Amino acid sequence: MTHRIALVRGDGIGPEIVDAACQVLDRIGGEYGHTFEYANVIAGGAAIDLFGEPLPKQALEKCLDSDSVLLGAVGGPRWDTLPGHLRPERALLGIRKGLGLYANIRPAKLMEDLKDASPLRRETADRGFDLVIVRELTGGLYFGKSGRYQSEDGETAFDTETYSVKEVRRIGKVAFDLARLRHGHVTSIDKANVMESSRLWRETIHALAKEYPDVPCRDMLVDNAAMQLVQNPAQFDVIVTSNLFGDILSDEASQLTGSIGMLPSASLGEGTRGMYEPIHGSAPDIAGQDAANPLATILSVSMMLRLSFGLEKEAAAVEEAVDAVLKDGLRTRDIARGGAFIKGSEMTRALLEKL
Ligand code: NAD
Repeated sequence: MTHRIALVRGDGIGPEIVDAACQVLDRIGGEYGHTFEYANVIAGGAAIDLFGEPLPKQALEKCLDSDSVLLGAVGGPRWDTLPGHLRPERALLGIRKGLGLYANIRPAKLMEDLKDASPLRRETADRGFDLVIVRELTGGLYFGKSGRYQSEDGETAFDTETYSVKEVRRIGKVAFDLARLRHGHVTSIDKANVMESSRLWRETIHALAKEYPDVPCRDMLVDNAAMQLVQNPAQFDVIVTSNLFGDILSDEASQLTGSIGMLPSASLGEGTRGMYEPIHGSAPDIAGQDAANPLATILSVSMMLRLSFGLEKEAAAVEEAVDAVLKDGLRTRDIARGGAFIKGSEMTRALLEKL
């Protein structure tokens, strides 16, 4: 079977890590009888340099024409002083919007062989954790009405959090479906003691929970959740939350794993097409040095195989290969904790051998 993948290599380490992930896809294709066809999409800083805008029309069209999008990372100091609408990150927002991707899915798993890299207390780390944050991506505070005006206190600014039942239901369904797949449970995080939008969020999740009697669900206030994540992350399975809270909590959770170069993410909408990318940025400080850890991007490919193409066996094979190279003690610099380390390309080669 042929799957068409739009490749946004992007900037900084983006091209290195996307090329590594493509080698993994090609190996999987060879082993399991699939064909992956790639379409190169120039977006982000590279597109600003070439075309004067971060997401040219033809770039979005190529993404729309694909079965899924794999993105490295965009951005870098070269473009940091440009006005907001011309920043490389605009490309991400444009692709998400163009593809109707409203659910951001970020697993945060403490890998057995990387426990030493976690900032958690040893006894907490020893209990391990394997959670997924489902963040609403296209509504809430980041997309509500905002502005500035002169009040009697002088210049004043405001942002508005808006959520409809429809928006909460559709993100809630993503979380419940995922929890069912994992035989797990849902924690819905809000600030219902203070915010009206959170009260609607909570009511909607409760109504939805009745449609999933086999999936246990509970609420948690966001301030408590931030604390519980550090104290006892093992208690969580699937977390569902708003755009703002998800932005903050998913960064917190990723730091608990101690390895930013290891964490994948997916953005999904209706249908099976998604955008898959590592959670880290373009790491301009190590670009071109063959020092980038390719595993977050490779694990993003594993998410793509499972969630967009329904290839569970193939996804599991990639994850097992990642576990195996770590078990062998192979480390790129970011996860070496001062010990011996290998180059990014050597990590990819070792992983291909495992496959
Ligand atoms: P970053 O994630 O790029 O880097 C933070 C630190 O982690 C750096 O020291 C970097 O070397 C290291 N690091 C990141 N990924 C690594 C990997 N795979 N292997 C080894 N080490 C890795 O964050 P930043 O420095 O704040 O941002 C750099 C640029 O990336 C900025 O322009 C920012 O806007 C952009 N950015 C893009 C995305 C995206 O494209 N989705 C996300 C975040 C930041």
